[in-house]
Amino acid sequence: MFIDHDYIEKILEDSKNVSKDEIQSVIDKARRREGLNHKEVGILLQVEDKDQLDEIYKLAGEIKESIYGKRIVMFAPLYVSNYCVNNCVYCGYKRDNKFIRRKLTQEEVANEVRILESMGHKRLALEVGEDPINVPIDYILECIDTIYKTQNDNGEIRRINVNIAATTVENYKKLKNANIGTYILFQETYHRPTYEKMHPKSIKGNYEYHLTSFDRAMEAGIDDVGGGVLFGLADPKFEVLALMLHNEYLEEKFKVGFHTISVPRLKKAEGMNLKDFPNILDDETFKKIVAIIRIAVPFTGIILSTRENQEMRRELLKYGVSQISAGSVTGVGGYKEKEEGKNVNQFETSDERSPLEVLKELVDDGYIPSYCTACYRKGRTGERFMSLAKSGEIQNVCEPNALMSLVEYALDYGDDEFKNKVEALIDDVKNSFDKQNVRNMVENRIEKLKDGERDLYV
Ligand code: SAM
Repeated sequence: MFIDHDYIEKILEDSKNVSKDEIQSVIDKARRREGLNHKEVGILLQVEDKDQLDEIYKLAGEIKESIYGKRIVMFAPLYVSNYCVNNCVYCGYKRDNKFIRRKLTQEEVANEVRILESMGHKRLALEVGEDPINVPIDYILECIDTIYKTQNDNGEIRRINVNIAATTVENYKKLKNANIGTYILFQETYHRPTYEKMHPKSIKGNYEYHLTSFDRAMEAGIDDVGGGVLFGLADPKFEVLALMLHNEYLEEKFKVGFHTISVPRLKKAEGMNLKDFPNILDDETFKKIVAIIRIAVPFTGIILSTRENQEMRRELLKYGVSQISAGSVTGVGGYKEKEEGKNVNQFETSDERSPLEVLKELVDDGYIPSYCTACYRKGRTGERFMSLAKSGEIQNVCEPNALMSLVEYALDYGDDEFKNKVEALIDDVKNSFDKQNVRNMVENRIEKLKDGERDLYV
C-alpha cells in the first residue's frame, strides 16, 4: 500500500530531536526552490521557533504568489441530500443521528441554484451523503444536469466539482460523461487505525477502497482529482506526509497528482463533542500545516471553506490557500431555508459574510477574486494543466481570465462601491501584463463585457 505507515512514522520519529540549524538548512533549501524530500518535510513539521515559523510563512506566501499570482478562485457548496448509511463519528449526517432525511427534488435543486447564481457563483461543489438506495448515481447525474441547465438572468453554473463517496469505475465514467470539473474526496485521515475507528460498521469503513478511489476515477478518465484531510482526527504531521505520498503515487501512476487539496478542520456537529477528539489543531498548528503543504506541493491548489472564520481565512490566503468558498450553507435546501431562517447543518460554519462582502475584502487586500472556469472547458485538465502550471505559461491565461470573470461579476452583482474598486484593479492588473497583445486583448474584452457580452475567456 502506498501509504506506508512504518515509513512515515520512522520519518516523524527521526525528525523529533532535530536541531534549529538543521531546520534552518531545510528552510534555506526550500527557499532555493530545490524541492523537498519526505525527510525534509518531516523536519519542517517540527518547527516551533517563532522566527523560523515567520520565515516559513513568508516563503509559503512567495511560492504561492509566484505560481498563482494574486488570483483567488471562488466557489460555493451545494448540499442536495443528507441521506447517509455511514456512521462517521465526527459527522452531523451520521446514520445514528435521527432526523428526517431528505433529498431535493429537481425543482428544489433548480431553486437552490438560482439563489447561488444570484450571489454571482459560477462554480459549485456538489455534496451528498452516501446512500446507494435513496441516492443512486442516477440521482446525482440528474442533479448535475439540472444545475448546468438552470439559468437566472446572466447567472449560470459553469463548473460542478463533485464530492461524493468513493465509488466504482463505472460510476466515475458516468460522472466524467456528465462533464464534472474536479472529483473531490477527502481521505479524512490517512492513519489506518484512526480511519477504522472513525468509520465503524460502515461502507465507508473500508480504508483501502476509500484510498484507491482516485485510481478508479483516473481509470475512468477523470483527470482532475482533489484530495483532503479532515484535520483533527489524527496527528497532522502524519497526514501531511501521507498527502505527499499520495500525491507522488498518483503522479507516478497517472502522470498527474492532486489538482487541489482541501484542508477542512473538524468543527462541532450534531451528535459529537469536540472534546472527544484529542488531535484537534490549535490555530497556530493549523497555519503551520497549511504553509508546509504549500511548500511541499507548490502546484496543487489549496481549498479553504467557511469552516474557518474571517480572520483565519484572511491569514491563510497569505500562506498558501488559493481557493475559498463564500456565502456557504451546509444543509440540504439550505440556501432557501436560510432565507426562511431554519436549517439542519452537516457542521457549523464560521464565516457568514455574503460573497460580495468577501470579495470586497479580497480586492482591498490586493487579490483578484476569480470566477474563471475556463481551464476544463478548454481541455486544460490533468497532465496538460500541470505542465502549463509547472512551466509558468498558465499565468498568461489565468490572470486575464480571472480579471474578465471579476469584471463580469462586478457588472452583474456588484454595488457601486465594488464596481469602483474593480475599475481601479483593472488598471493595476492590466499594467502588470508585460505583453502588449495580452493587454489589448483584455481591454477589448472588458469593453465587450460592458456592452453586455458574457462568459469571455481564453
Ligand atoms: N459523503 C461523501 C464522502 O463520504 O466523502 C461526501 C462528504 S461530506 C458531504 C463532505 C466532508 O465534510 C467530509 O468528507 C468530511 O471531511 C467533512 N465533515 C464531516 N463532518 C465534519 C465536521 N464535523 N467538521 C468539519 N468537516 C466535517
